[in-house]
Amino acid sequence: MNKKITVLPGDGIGPEIVAEAIKVLNKISEKYGHSFEYTYVDIGGCSIDKYGVPITDEGMEICKRSDSVLLGAVGGPKWDNCPPAIRPEKALLAVRKELGLFANLRPTKLFAQLSNASPLKQEIVGNGIDLLIVRELTGGVYFGERKTEEVDGELVATDIMPYSESEIERIGRVAIETAMKRNKKLSSVDKANVLDTSRLWRKTMHRLSEEYPQVEYSDILVDNTAMQLIKNPTQFDVLVTENMFGDILSDEASMLTGSIGMMPSASLSSGTLGMYEPIHGSAPDIAGMNIANPLGTILSAAMMLRYSFDMAKEADDIEAAVNKVLDNGFRTGDIMQEGCKKVSCSEMGDLVSQSI
Ligand code: NAD
Repeated sequence: MNKKITVLPGDGIGPEIVAEAIKVLNKISEKYGHSFEYTYVDIGGCSIDKYGVPITDEGMEICKRSDSVLLGAVGGPKWDNCPPAIRPEKALLAVRKELGLFANLRPTKLFAQLSNASPLKQEIVGNGIDLLIVRELTGGVYFGERKTEEVDGELVATDIMPYSESEIERIGRVAIETAMKRNKKLSSVDKANVLDTSRLWRKTMHRLSEEYPQVEYSDILVDNTAMQLIKNPTQFDVLVTENMFGDILSDEASMLTGSIGMMPSASLSSGTLGMYEPIHGSAPDIAGMNIANPLGTILSAAMMLRYSFDMAKEADDIEAAVNKVLDNGFRTGDIMQEGCKKVSCSEMGDLVSQSI
């Protein structure tokens, strides 16, 4: 298969970790006879320095015309005082909007080899955590009308949280289809005891879930979910929720693994085009030192193969290679354990690539 991939290395450790993911993709293309064509585009601070904007119109067009987008990370102290309209992260919001990326998939997997990196007790973690949060990404309170006005001599701020049935159905279907490919278990997270948007969310999800009797469906309130993620995280498989709840819960869930450098993510559109990136930022404190953990980006590339290119076997191959490298005791500094062998960012990329 021939696929066009737009590569957005970005700032800080972005170029280092993306280079390792490309190394792994090249190994996959060699092994399976695919052809991946890469086009590199500046994004974030490096684009502001060169062009005065966090992404150029031409860069955006290249993203739109590709089969998928691989991102490193953007931002850093150098650009912290840029005017809000041209801050590095503006480019991410623009790409999400232009590409219609409404579904954010954030897997949280505690690799058995790293189980003592989790802040949770061993008896809670069990044989490992493996859950996936599906977050609605383009609706809700982050996109609703907002205002601050003076009422009776004091300032009053209002943020509106709109959701339409079609928006809920669209994300609900992604979640159910994803659950079908995993363990056929879906929890829909809402606040239906208080919010109208949540009541519509629940009603729509119930209607959808009836179309998929094979999926074990349940509703759960967001406050209880926050608690259950700490108390008994292995009860969950796929969780689906609206934008703000998903933002908060996915950060909480990612911390259960204790290793931010390991976590991938995918943002999907209604077609096959998606954007894939590790969940961490540009880590300016370790940029340019060749010590960053590239596994989150490498696993994001695996998600790209699975969700955008329908290459499940190739994705499995990358995930198995990561497991093998961890089994063999190789670790970057952030996940280093006693008795293991410490390797650099590029050595980790080499090891995964050689294990494929
Ligand atoms: P961060 O995720 O960049 O770093 C937090 C801590 O985790 C740091 O100590 C860092 O060294 C470490 N870390 C992160 N990724 C690592 C990896 N792969 N290997 C080893 N250690 C790793 O978060 P931050 O420090 O809050 O943010 C730094 C910059 O990144 C800011 O400008 C922020 O706006 C930006 N940011 C970008 C994104 C994105 O591009 N999607 C996301 C979050 C933050």
